[in-house]
Amino acid sequence: MKRPPIRRDLALVEGYHSPQLDVEVRLNTNEAPEPPPPAFAEELQRIVPGIDWNRYPDRSASELRSRIAALEGVAADQVLAANGSNEVLQTICLVYGGFGSTVAVFEPTYALHSHIARVTGAAVAEGGRSPDFELDLDEVERVIDQARPEIVFLCSPNNPTGMLDPAPALERVLELAPGLVVVDEAYGQFAPRSALELVDEEHRLVVTRTFSKTWSMAGARLGYAVGPRWMVPELEKVLLPYHLDSFKQAAGIAALGFEQEMRNRVQRLVDERTRLSAAMAELEVRTWPSDANFILFRPESIAGDEVWQGLVDRGVLVRNCSSWRGLTDCLRVTVGTPTENDRFVGALEEVLDRG
Ligand SMILES: *Cc1c(COP(=O)(O)O)cnc(C)c1O
Repeated sequence: MKRPPIRRDLALVEGYHSPQLDVEVRLNTNEAPEPPPPAFAEELQRIVPGIDWNRYPDRSASELRSRIAALEGVAADQVLAANGSNEVLQTICLVYGGFGSTVAVFEPTYALHSHIARVTGAAVAEGGRSPDFELDLDEVERVIDQARPEIVFLCSPNNPTGMLDPAPALERVLELAPGLVVVDEAYGQFAPRSALELVDEEHRLVVTRTFSKTWSMAGARLGYAVGPRWMVPELEKVLLPYHLDSFKQAAGIAALGFEQEMRNRVQRLVDERTRLSAAMAELEVRTWPSDANFILFRPESIAGDEVWQGLVDRGVLVRNCSSWRGLTDCLRVTVGTPTENDRFVGALEEVLDRG
């Protein structure tokens, strides 16, 4: 049998992988270490029997959208919700990018930005960041002038490096970009500032956020975009009908009832982040400042791969970024519970001592 050929431009594209191992301490995917509060689970139990399972869901997810809008202080028609912010990013790429277009990214950054851009047919123009992973505005200008991208992706705080882009840098990118600027704020609530302040009808700017990290709801697959009013109906054109199921809409609405609990969890993680970076500062690793729920680090005298394996051998899984562009020997640890963080620091100490 001759297998049917796939789209020619996909032949060399690899699927996205985030290796998952069965270890005790999983600090590799930036998940929240704590679940949502028990009252949230109780609320779900109350809601489930009332779902009209035989009916299609509310197609425009109107209640969920207006609740998200109230949370972010914007109008409901500025919000688009989808199955994780990855689906939001895909939707944006389908509408504003696609075949014949170019999407600009500044590496090292979230791998899914270039992946989703390619899968949706766009060419990717890759710029670099400064040696300390800051946006280099000369480089941004060079890439934008050369590629004239339909979409520029920023990630702030940037995954996997951790820092927030300064407000003047974002304003400069908005001036330079000929098309849409997307700011991925998956870690937005961990940071002191948000690009949401700049979203209005006059800027070609859209901000994406997710329930996966700060809301402790990675299992729910729910994310959203906040943009100008004129953008949302354009994005809706490519969504599959009824893309958000009834249960997910209800779960999202229920979760939003526990905003203060979310803020408390975020605060606990920020405190733990401070404690963890102080502990790591005592070890032979270089760390970078973080405005998110993870810390990027580079062992000073042992190869990253070796440290990663040593940690796995001690039951601790972190993300191995050592083969990523610009991140030679770097690893990324998610801030976990105090116990998990202690386990990580103890294991790291052992691995470094042995080397
Ligand atoms: C984790 C993460 C996401 C989350 O995607 P979801 O599809 O909402 O789970 C998006 N962007 C970045 C930069 C992330 O790190």
